[in-house]
Amino acid sequence: MVTVGETTRETAYTPGAPSLGPRLARHLDRHRVVPRDYYEVLGVSRNATDAELKKAYRQLAMRNHPDKNPGDAEAENRFKELNEAYAILSDADKRAQYDRFGTVSPGAGGFGDVGFGTLFEDLFEGFFSGGGGRQRSRAVRGEDLQYELKITLEEAASGVETKIQVPRLETCETCSGSGVESGSKREVCQACHGRGEVRYTQGFLTVGRTCPRCGGQGEIVANPCATCRGDGRVRRERLLQVKIPAGIEDGMQMRLSGEGAGGARGGPPGDLYVVVRVQEHERFVRRDSDLYTELPLTFAQLALGTEVEVPVLGGTAKLKVPPGTQPNQVLRLRGKGMQHLRGRGHGDACYQVVLEVPQKLTAKQREALEAFEAAMKDEGGWVKKILGG
Ligand SMILES: [Zn+2]
Ligand SMILES: [Zn+2]
Repeated sequence: MVTVGETTRETAYTPGAPSLGPRLARHLDRHRVVPRDYYEVLGVSRNATDAELKKAYRQLAMRNHPDKNPGDAEAENRFKELNEAYAILSDADKRAQYDRFGTVSPGAGGFGDVGFGTLFEDLFEGFFSGGGGRQRSRAVRGEDLQYELKITLEEAASGVETKIQVPRLETCETCSGSGVESGSKREVCQACHGRGEVRYTQGFLTVGRTCPRCGGQGEIVANPCATCRGDGRVRRERLLQVKIPAGIEDGMQMRLSGEGAGGARGGPPGDLYVVVRVQEHERFVRRDSDLYTELPLTFAQLALGTEVEVPVLGGTAKLKVPPGTQPNQVLRLRGKGMQHLRGRGHGDACYQVVLEVPQKLTAKQREALEAFEAAMKDEGGWVKKILGG
């Protein structure tokens, strides 16, 4: 490694020197921050090895990366300086030039196009958001798919076996997913040189975009498979058998392993998730394994007690209303609810009592009620209770 004395570097360190035209000097002042000592920026000695440089850069760049310091302009500037410093010092020619002259002439690469992207990919592959993009020729697992299956509450109660039609991408059988016509092969994309990503410099930052030519694959198929047009996958509709267990709840999902989209380039298929949507029932509302509904009864039925026919899922049943039952009280038919999803047995069918007050009375009904009211007053019980006496 060339070691250059301090003085030589200092005297040559003259950005915006008078020999430059005044307009150019002003332009450089405005558009290029005068570079600080690159060794100082990276906190390394002048005879640091490449490994030491890389280590120092990696640590500092991670700490000052804009993704980790959103909105922090100082961090962004430091990050830019670090990039400049490392871009120059990691290149043997540029480092030698910098050591001799204290600057690197724009003709020797400048700061904008030294290829930060490449540095970044080398050092931080996949570490920061937007740093990825390389996926060439690797086997890719198929996507997981989601299918929404609507069932009735009755079906949820009994369990159901049904068929669903699933549109999905499947691995092409003609080319076994390679996307290439037999006898032909993939070629490295010339637009991105296989990286799958092209880099643009925007101000301080170098931004990566998915390569438009190869779509991020890094490769181009010269003779694509005729069946799948090079995709490696074809669209198919599949009829799949699904078994929904009794007691399933709204929003639960079942995983059908390997029934998702087919993989690309030999990758395994994804999974299919069947999300069960239990439709609202006209009468019952479900809470865990219990089913709730309202049961309208008259005052007399509640006071005297009775037996009524009530709806249950898929039929009717008899329910005993004990004398003295209160409004809003919940009466239960044990075991007439939903099957417990885990464990044995069923929940209950629950009937919340609603007191029905007649809006019109016949003369006979009125007479009977008035007699009842008079009898209550005689006893003093009911009215006294209401008035808190
Ligand atoms: Zn194919
Ligand atoms: Zn490309």
